[in-house]
Amino acid sequence: MHRARYQIIKARKQVALALALTLILVTSTCSPPEPAGKPVNVLMISFDTLRPDHLSCYGYTRQTSPNLDAIAQRGVLFENFYSSTSWTLPAHMAMFTGLPDSVHGVYDNDVPALDPNRTTLAQQFQAAGYTTAGFVTGPYLHPAFGFDRGFDEYFNCMAYMETQDFRDRRFRRFSNNTHAESHRAATNPTLFSAATNWLQQQRTEPFFLFMHVWDVHYDFTPPPPFDRKFDPDYSGVITGMNFASSPDIHPAMAKRDLDHLIALYDGEIACTDEFVGKLMSQMDRLGLTENTLIVITADHGEEFFEHGRKGHQWTLFEEVLRIPLILSWPGHLPQGKRVTEQGRIIDLVATITELCSLPPNTETIGTSLVAAIEGTGARNLPVYAELDVADHPVSLRAIRTPEYKLIWDNLGQRFKLFDMQLDPQETNPLPTESIHAAPAFASLQDWMGRMKELTATLPRHTGRAPVDLDDQTLQQLKGLGYISD
Ligand SMILES: [Zn+2]
Repeated sequence: MHRARYQIIKARKQVALALALTLILVTSTCSPPEPAGKPVNVLMISFDTLRPDHLSCYGYTRQTSPNLDAIAQRGVLFENFYSSTSWTLPAHMAMFTGLPDSVHGVYDNDVPALDPNRTTLAQQFQAAGYTTAGFVTGPYLHPAFGFDRGFDEYFNCMAYMETQDFRDRRFRRFSNNTHAESHRAATNPTLFSAATNWLQQQRTEPFFLFMHVWDVHYDFTPPPPFDRKFDPDYSGVITGMNFASSPDIHPAMAKRDLDHLIALYDGEIACTDEFVGKLMSQMDRLGLTENTLIVITADHGEEFFEHGRKGHQWTLFEEVLRIPLILSWPGHLPQGKRVTEQGRIIDLVATITELCSLPPNTETIGTSLVAAIEGTGARNLPVYAELDVADHPVSLRAIRTPEYKLIWDNLGQRFKLFDMQLDPQETNPLPTESIHAAPAFASLQDWMGRMKELTATLPRHTGRAPVDLDDQTLQQLKGLGYISD
């Protein structure tokens, strides 16, 4: 058992009575009135690197996700939901703060942790009297970046890492094998057994439970039978290992090999989905399904050379920017509903707090998606995305409307504009002369200006300290391909 269990903060619980009395449900469509009922529990799961177009419920031809499909069937699926970027650290911080990356400011190893003046979703639930617990499986969810804020308990479930003490904000007792293990070990069993045990033994309702699920992230080495589930006849060289560094995985690789690589990615999804099914069964056994809001989402997608790259953290094309969002709360949210209106990862804070009748986070610039669920007042607010990585030669800004996608390459000082209705694969940029006339151009300029203003007007950090990552942690991040030597 490699899982290390540590309590970061045992926060003094605030009385939940006020919450119970003020559980005024938002609308007759989404949330029928319920007199002084129990506050709803929240189970929020972020699947690292999960592309929605590889889920059956999003139309994928392979049956990768029967259990996620079942959650979608009894809830609401957002067909056009987007991240703020294309990699783990800033996307998760946007998820928890409702702020774009340049505003929350946590977008690289060398920048400070989240400003202590800013409020996370977990802090909002904790302040409302909820029991809060986080279970994480990736190095970028480390408390050093501020992700443990608001969690009564924050669990390191990285099966591939030896005992790590999050309280120290440094990884310790790090073996030479950890780098290799990070690619080989399956974290799902560790993560899901920890979370299900917590639900069975330690939960105190109402609870906010967050899970970060790692196995869909490369390397793509699903255990049997998922390693051969979608491509049983393959006999080539691709194993799914060493995805970031393997010379066999390159833009000109044979289609047969690339197909197998994708089959392995799909195998990781199917394997993960099986654990989701076990978790849902446990929720049913414990009688929690009826009074729990389930939030299924991701931080970013994955590239398989659609635009010449593999992995993520390089571009802002659809294959990395689009993510799933499925919400389920029996009796309160519609069943089997599909929302086509655009949604954004920065909208999650406002949406979840409204559904749970928590006071709004006044800092977030996201907008609640409850109206989109109801089908009233469609707005299709533009998706704004950013990508700045100190160790990669990339600096991008993008705006996505239902009609257009405009990407600004800050290093190359050039725009690319795509007609998303005629060219959803983003393969034929429109002529340069059309860019300045496109509505997306004004929209992107407006957003870039707003981001500057917001960054200037939000509370300033008064005692920022650099994120404290030791050499071994940095080596691990290098091993995952996030940092170059
Ligand atoms: Zn990620």
